[in-house]
Amino acid sequence: MKYLSCRYIEHGMDFEHTRLETCCFTCHSGGGQITLKNEYAGEQINWQELFDKKRKYREEHRKGNLTPNCKGCVFLEEKDWDEEDYINFLQFNYWIACNSKCTYCYEVQNKKLFEKIKPYDAVPVVRKMLEEKILRPGGEVSFGGGEPTIAPEFEDLINLLTQYGFRNMRIHSSGIKYSPAIAKAIEKGVLNVVISIDSGCEKTYKKIKRVNAYKKVIENMRKYAQANTDKFGLMTSKYIIIPDVNDNRKEIDLWIDSVVKCGGKWLALDIEDVWYKVNRSTISTYYLDLVNYVIDKAGSLGMKVELYDRARGLKEGKNQL
Ligand code: SF4
Ligand code: SF4
Repeated sequence: MKYLSCRYIEHGMDFEHTRLETCCFTCHSGGGQITLKNEYAGEQINWQELFDKKRKYREEHRKGNLTPNCKGCVFLEEKDWDEEDYINFLQFNYWIACNSKCTYCYEVQNKKLFEKIKPYDAVPVVRKMLEEKILRPGGEVSFGGGEPTIAPEFEDLINLLTQYGFRNMRIHSSGIKYSPAIAKAIEKGVLNVVISIDSGCEKTYKKIKRVNAYKKVIENMRKYAQANTDKFGLMTSKYIIIPDVNDNRKEIDLWIDSVVKCGGKWLALDIEDVWYKVNRSTISTYYLDLVNYVIDKAGSLGMKVELYDRARGLKEGKNQL
């Protein structure tokens, strides 16, 4: 039976700092993040309970009652969904520590709140999920944070998932720390690393990131880009447009030039989340023009662009929803 749902409601799970959610997406008008378990800190999961919860959400979608948090989400699609209970879209967002201090970061802005949260290690749970075939390859595993590469269990986690045949992993990293496990998985063609740089020069980088690491990030972008040079490679350089800071063609040109020099072929583009949410219904065409500028310029250089949620919402006119 065809109905409106998404891959995360059907087969997704997200490890957050203190909860388990269906997904980590919050950019749309509904707000996202449908809770599967509150007060979670790395303990083993009662799968019967968790899938019962997921089934309730799925049942409502089947009846045409869209979960309010999903309203306006770009991931909704109408199709025949597989009814079996398993997870194959997994997100890791439970890390708090980071080696950058981005001005737009929610965790940096709410440092006191995050200081109170006790970090946990998801590896034992993931290992059990793999052994019991609750977690299966075939979807996507993504890593956000905090900064995943500085977590003690990070290298083990990547090696474990690689060993179990996961071929579609994606890591969001500050790019400040080089990870041998990332490079090895890129070499095998099973992982894409997205490096957040948001700038085309050292001065703007420092203004946004508030750390002195531009050269290190450029060097790591180059190493990851060269770990696998097949087709479009597996290193993506990400730029969040921040109004009045880096929202101009000059900075964007410098950014794209630096990616070309590193041997990178993929760009990712987004718009600063808080500003987007506040201004979503009145965003001027200047920003849509800027998004189109990146797409056109990348196309003329034989590069590809992935639009992240806010940029994609703007491009598809969904910011008005
Ligand atoms: S529709 Fe969007 S918000 Fe809802 S679960 Fe799917 S990805 Fe998350
Ligand atoms: S790299 Fe990510 S987690 Fe770290 S400060 Fe920047 S936005 Fe926050």
